[in-house]
Amino acid sequence: MYYVTLRCTARCAMCDVWRGADAPGYREQTLAEVQANLHALPRLGVRLIDFTGGEPLLFAHILDALRCARQMGMRTTLTTNCALYPDLAEELCGLVQHLQFSCEAADAAAHDAVRGPGSHARVLESMACARRLGQRFNLVATITDAALAQLDTLLAFAAAQRTVLALNPCFASAHQAGLSAAGARVLMRAARHPWAVADHAALALIADGGNQCARPVCRAGRATMTITPDNQIVAPCLHHEQQRVPIAGDLAHAWRTTQEVAARAGTYEVCRGCTLYCYMRASLYRRYPLRTLRSLTKYCMTRLRRGSA
Ligand code: SF4
Ligand code: SF4
Repeated sequence: MYYVTLRCTARCAMCDVWRGADAPGYREQTLAEVQANLHALPRLGVRLIDFTGGEPLLFAHILDALRCARQMGMRTTLTTNCALYPDLAEELCGLVQHLQFSCEAADAAAHDAVRGPGSHARVLESMACARRLGQRFNLVATITDAALAQLDTLLAFAAAQRTVLALNPCFASAHQAGLSAAGARVLMRAARHPWAVADHAALALIADGGNQCARPVCRAGRATMTITPDNQIVAPCLHHEQQRVPIAGDLAHAWRTTQEVAARAGTYEVCRGCTLYCYMRASLYRRYPLRTLRSLTKYCMTRLRRGSA
């Protein structure tokens, strides 16, 4: 998880991240810092980088960072709210293996109520740009219990657009209740839709009550590394960090320094019942191997559909 920025073009009420950009002393990495980290990551066994935020396309060096990651042979993933994508689409083309356009509702008014005026139109424009360029993408929606009411129309929208829709469960934050166990079961059924994909392991975890401290499933900080915009590693995860180590030109040293704290991921009091999917998705296969396999199979088959570009 490479947090290149905490800034965002939107101010979604349920989101904690953009608020961090107002903190005193907030800064973002220089190009030299990003390049040094990207050169060090493969030696630490990192194969996939999720350039995230905030809105990652706001980061001044995002194109250079993606180019460098590709030159280093790493896979890249990026999720954008689409506000800036149409302007950068040509330069981004081919740099992101797994590009996701965030779409909260099929209905423009409902989507814009979350993301801001005109944002749904930018999703449609982004889809058109990506298709014109032959850039692969899928839509992604963050599903709360309240959003389940909109699910059928969202799935119909994905089908009409002939575009894969990833259904990501919302996790609990200070500003938002996470998807409930009952909601997770509804989402499992919804994910049978031919244009929908979901991580059934993540949904099973929610249905099972989340991470259990006595038998943790989370391996944040070991299976995943989290780099902050101001060039530090946090462990075990950004949302409930226990340790923060400046990289200062030596990513490997900073990484090793966090491993004692990371080894206790999933056992801290804040970890009780946690469903923070982004940090756990790399470790859920250990607890839910068949569900992981099922999700991956559906994902690969659905991505091959015509129109998903
Ligand atoms: S678009 Fe995403 S990152 Fe930006 S405020 Fe909304 S949820 Fe947060
Ligand atoms: S269980 Fe949740 S809070 Fe605990 S380390 Fe993992 S992601 Fe962070």
